[in-house]
Amino acid sequence: MADTTQATDVSEGMSLATARARIPKREIPAFWVGDGGAVERCVREVKNGQVRVLARSPGEHPIHVIAYGERESPARRANYNSALGAGQPEAYMDKAARKRPVLLFVGPVHGQETEGVTGLCNLVRVMETGQDMRGRDQARLRELGLRCRLLIVPCANPDGLARFEPKSLCGMTREDIRFWGQGTKPDDTYWGWPGCKARHPMRAEDYAFLGCYFNEAGVNPMHDEFVAPMGPEAAAVLRLAADEGPDLAVSLHSHAAAPSVLRPAYAPREAQVRLSVLAKRFNDLAAARGFRHGGVPEIALDGGASPPSFNLVSALHHACGAPSFTFECPHGVTDEKAYHVGFDEILDIQFCLYEAMMRDVLVAR
Ligand SMILES: [Zn+2]
Repeated sequence: MADTTQATDVSEGMSLATARARIPKREIPAFWVGDGGAVERCVREVKNGQVRVLARSPGEHPIHVIAYGERESPARRANYNSALGAGQPEAYMDKAARKRPVLLFVGPVHGQETEGVTGLCNLVRVMETGQDMRGRDQARLRELGLRCRLLIVPCANPDGLARFEPKSLCGMTREDIRFWGQGTKPDDTYWGWPGCKARHPMRAEDYAFLGCYFNEAGVNPMHDEFVAPMGPEAAAVLRLAADEGPDLAVSLHSHAAAPSVLRPAYAPREAQVRLSVLAKRFNDLAAARGFRHGGVPEIALDGGASPPSFNLVSALHHACGAPSFTFECPHGVTDEKAYHVGFDEILDIQFCLYEAMMRDVLVAR
């Protein structure tokens, strides 16, 4: 807290000028991917994988997917929910008939959560060269990746990313997360989490600063209207999932605390059991590498007076049958109760998750 700009009271809100003045003078390492230009450079370097533009955002930015590993196309006679209606999941896709398991990595739908963008662009570099952007050998991760088909969407909300000026929240505070993440009301007070979700889409008169949660049209892709989409991002991700039928899918997010695999809402018992196994695998790997981690999600029924939302992760499962989950990575903020990590550790935590996911689908067959 030596930085004097942080002495100002920002507990309730701040202006964009204050938020900009609070961005610390830090050296952000070259391996960090915290803006759209760096994502574009990563995409242009792809030689071994296939790059495709899934959609364009309201702010006219492309949403890319990069695929590694040959595509196998088992016969498909029905969409997923109709196949379940028939009692024949294989009518959607006989996933077990494929030689390689398929993993879907959905990069951040929240623009300030650049930990996942950095992780996925580094995974692309690993698949291209065997080294990450730090020049460190990642042959083990690449070898696991080569046994799968990987679908990598490095950033699922490029409009939100374009609005995120600090490029990383590492070394900043929870107030900075609130400002850049959920944004501010016209009087410069925070919308905050989860209050920002009570206004959707955000209209121009609703904000002074539109948080990086939202695309340029004020839509938070995590909570789009999946049967009648308000924005192109979630719809593009769901089309990709339905088309490819992944064996496991993640939506990458970030928060202040230790890394955690979250329980998905409205997933059948079998998918919840698979994800608790995956969470244990991630936690063991993280612990072995010296990182703290969250708990293993409980197997539970959804309910309550205000039941959990059917969000993008729920929709992903119901589009393709894959166990689908939210991963929360630490930002590295400095608040007393936060998990204190630096840039290098954040990338290593992302790699722990990718390795756990690859091992999970390879063992499951
Ligand atoms: Zn998020």
